[in-house]
Amino acid sequence: PDGDGLMWNKAPCRFCGTGCHVQVGVEDGRVVAIAGDKAADVNKGLLCVKGYHVGGILYGKDRLTKPLLRKDGELTEIEWDEAIDIVAKRIMDAPDKFAFYGSGQWTIPEGFAAQKFMKGGLGNNHIDPNARLCMASAVTGFLATYGVDEPAGCYADLDECDVLITWGNNPAEMHPVLFSRVTDRRSRGETVRIIDIGTRRTRTTDASNDYLEMKPHGDVAISLGIMHLLIENDSYDKSFVAKHCNFRGDEADTPTLHGEAITEEEFRKRIAKYTPEHVEELSGVPADKIRMLAELFGNHDIRITSLWCMGMNQHTMGTAINSLVHGVHLLSGHFGRPGDAPTSLTGQPSACGTVREVGTLAHALPGGRLVAKPDHRAQCEELWNVREGSINPMPGYHTVKMFEQFTKPTSEGGDINTLFVQVTNPGQTLPNLNTLFNDKEGLEDKFLIVSEVYPTATTRLADLILPAALWVEKNGMFGNSERRTQQWFKMVDPPGEARDDCWMTIAIAHRLFELGHEGMKNKDGEFIFAVKDDSGEEIPVWEFEHYYDTNVDKHLFEEYRAFTTMKHKNLAPYEEYVAARGLRWPVVEQPDGSWRETKFRFSGFDDPFVAEGQEFEFYHSSSNDGRAQIWFHEYAPPPEKPDAEYPFWLCTGRVLEHWHTGTMTRRVSQLSRAMPTSYVEMHAEDARAANIRQGETVVIESRRGVCELPVWIDGRGRPPRGTIFVPFFDETKLINNCTLEAHDPFSKQPDYKKCAVKVVKK
Ligand code: SF4
Repeated sequence: PDGDGLMWNKAPCRFCGTGCHVQVGVEDGRVVAIAGDKAADVNKGLLCVKGYHVGGILYGKDRLTKPLLRKDGELTEIEWDEAIDIVAKRIMDAPDKFAFYGSGQWTIPEGFAAQKFMKGGLGNNHIDPNARLCMASAVTGFLATYGVDEPAGCYADLDECDVLITWGNNPAEMHPVLFSRVTDRRSRGETVRIIDIGTRRTRTTDASNDYLEMKPHGDVAISLGIMHLLIENDSYDKSFVAKHCNFRGDEADTPTLHGEAITEEEFRKRIAKYTPEHVEELSGVPADKIRMLAELFGNHDIRITSLWCMGMNQHTMGTAINSLVHGVHLLSGHFGRPGDAPTSLTGQPSACGTVREVGTLAHALPGGRLVAKPDHRAQCEELWNVREGSINPMPGYHTVKMFEQFTKPTSEGGDINTLFVQVTNPGQTLPNLNTLFNDKEGLEDKFLIVSEVYPTATTRLADLILPAALWVEKNGMFGNSERRTQQWFKMVDPPGEARDDCWMTIAIAHRLFELGHEGMKNKDGEFIFAVKDDSGEEIPVWEFEHYYDTNVDKHLFEEYRAFTTMKHKNLAPYEEYVAARGLRWPVVEQPDGSWRETKFRFSGFDDPFVAEGQEFEFYHSSSNDGRAQIWFHEYAPPPEKPDAEYPFWLCTGRVLEHWHTGTMTRRVSQLSRAMPTSYVEMHAEDARAANIRQGETVVIESRRGVCELPVWIDGRGRPPRGTIFVPFFDETKLINNCTLEAHDPFSKQPDYKKCAVKVVKK
């Protein structure tokens, strides 16, 4: 857009992991217009309904604008100086009892600063992001299969595939612009077969050629059934497997992420029992549909892309099902050609960029390094210029454990007493909220600090609330689901005294430096976040008025960039991202000085790190032989199943109009009017049997808690009999009172997609 008198600039959308680019129109210091960015490869000018209204998230009436301290139960305004002092002193008093809970919505520099502050500065690994709740199983699935995280393919696969399989995934609502790349092809006359495998009918089902309705956990059996038939029918890709794959199994007594090598013969033996009929028993999907899937994978003349997101990740067998779907693609050779890809999507805009790449998980370090490995710690200490031995070798608490330790009384061993939450809303998103969050109430020595934009379900129990800047009120960088790093500049001022999360981290670190905390000094005795001007003078960026005197984001990003070459996740210099609409890593410099991104990783025709002459190379193979691992995992039932007392499956999830806990989108009137309140989707026969009518309020009850909701029969989503679905966007109806904290053994990601409940008419 131009010629309208507005100042326009680019930014990625604030919401989902698709990473659409918008153009932001500013007038008189206020965002007044949003347009789809036609120059952006991801969305080519298109946005979904949330994207078109993204500017409105800045202007809710109840923005937090001043630090608030709870005194005698009442929130009281205080100055920033006092707020920073309170946090720093609590950390100084008990540095090991402090934990930092962040997010896949942290910008890359914010996450890097938090990571350096905790692991490099405090020597404390109790830092974990909310992405633990959404894509940790995708990480462990990639690591177990390829020895390195994040997808090999990219969104271009959606332009090339003949068949798209959605595994427990509803991209029509959750990643709408991405899904429209496929439906657009149909409207241009191309044929794309969409196969939807799920536990309820959704808008994705409406666009699908085939709908395969499975029982919860049925995906594990289905993937095993496909692999069984590929072997049985001799239709697997023998050449690809012989050249590029090994077989792995988990030994039941002592399962590990990398398992044990097994022979192809052993793999055949183990998988032999997953006949189509047995898979039908386990999954509920008819045997002939399993045969249909196996025939498609056995056809090498077509290209198949698999997509998944929370359905496979929020799963107590999350690592297993991720590895098995990779295995289906590897065994069949549907890998590494444009359109042939197993691809996981993320729900948050920078779950990949900030969580996976920067390594803000409790066991990780930047650049794919691990706190448990001495050589990895040494590399990071060197790059951070902090003292040898600064980084603690013990992984910190993962999310569920962190909140268990925070809400447990100190006298009973709850060893986290100060928790700082940035850019996320655990008071609404944690499973089993009564235990993992609400139990904090009344524990006098536990102190919750929350950096937020609006009052939320989390600030309700906060002892100190810090008002935060949002989206284009600050500089930022995100990394989307296809390895694309994106940059934007601050365009408007935050309201009142709201400030950048990154500034908060640096200001707290500097107060600790002033208090004499040795970890806040580098090897030269300087502040670990020192930023210097051209003459070598330090700029006091911890004083907010100087924060933008220099681009702190750029300094942090350039420091972080040195870590990215360690595992072939190379990033380009900051200026390249200023000029581009994002670049997919690895990005490597060309002889002419330009920087080239990579679309298809591990494929010789595109990936610069594949050895010359090789068609494929898995250069971070856990077996150190350039091969990927095809896994066998035995099917296991879900941790909780319906019974006589709790006869329904409960599945939770999202809706098109709201983003996650709705704190931003529920303040945009167009979106909140379109979807004002949460509800429970129920099958008409189940409602009739319980004498429940459309719109009536029911009580959902599990062994852990209750939630009251109006019923929507034959609504947007249509669950089968015996299953109900509830979205989690509505803070007035907290469905996570009912969900359970059972989690995958490797990823520690909880299962929000299946637990047992009863439905009682009110
Ligand atoms: Fe934003 Fe996702 Fe919608 Fe794109 S699809 S406009 S990134 S919410």
